[in-house]
Amino acid sequence: MTEATHNVDRDEIAKFEKLAGRWWDPGSEFKPLHDINPLRLDYINRLAPLAGKRVIDVGCGGGLLTEAMAAKGAQVSGIDMGKAPLSVARLHRHESGLEIDYQQATAEQIAETQAGSFDVVTCLEMLEHVPDPGAVIAACARLIKNDGQVFLSTINRNPKAYLFAVVGAEYLLRMLPLGTHDYSKFIRPSEMEGWARACGLQLVDLTGMSYNPLTREYRLGQDVSVNYLACFRKA
Ligand code: SAH
Repeated sequence: MTEATHNVDRDEIAKFEKLAGRWWDPGSEFKPLHDINPLRLDYINRLAPLAGKRVIDVGCGGGLLTEAMAAKGAQVSGIDMGKAPLSVARLHRHESGLEIDYQQATAEQIAETQAGSFDVVTCLEMLEHVPDPGAVIAACARLIKNDGQVFLSTINRNPKAYLFAVVGAEYLLRMLPLGTHDYSKFIRPSEMEGWARACGLQLVDLTGMSYNPLTREYRLGQDVSVNYLACFRKA
């Protein structure tokens, strides 16, 4: 592995490879991603109107957000280290008739050749699956133009997040396969902000994404105790 691909957890990639065939099935293990997709798309499009923007989606998986951003008129690239999620994404792109450039790569690799090329970098629900999230954030920072924006999302680390994201989602509601998330890899907003600041980014907005197990619905709001989205720009 080269320097730019060392920050990849092969076991984590394998989990997504195994499930990839069901990526676009809204009743599958990927239901939570389907459910939050319109919310996060609106969030990004509100803070960075996507039409005409050059966007890269880091850890794009099967392309749920990638396609949604392309449909808003952005020129989108999607990168992921999983082969199967990428083939699913490429096939689905044909069904939707959207133009998206998909590549098997890390953010660190793309930053070596395309630094300063993107208006928007998105890296959602991926940082909790890599060995060194700070290095991914630093690569995202290198990828944006001077006036660009970086959007990150992940899961907070506290007892409530453990209860909702691991016990609730994996054990009680069986929304996700057991072992999908490793609590120790969850990230506090303060940690994310610290890594971002270290690579010259400043926080523009932090918004929570909370799940109501009774209505089985997600909504955006102030509560960042479990899932959250953040927007950064260069300081
Ligand atoms: N961002 C997508 C998919 C999230 S699932 C969404 O929110 O809809 C996490 C994805 O990150 C998986 O597809 C996995 O293969 C990918 N991934 C994990 N580590 C990676 C790395 N170091 N570089 C690129 N992709 C990675």
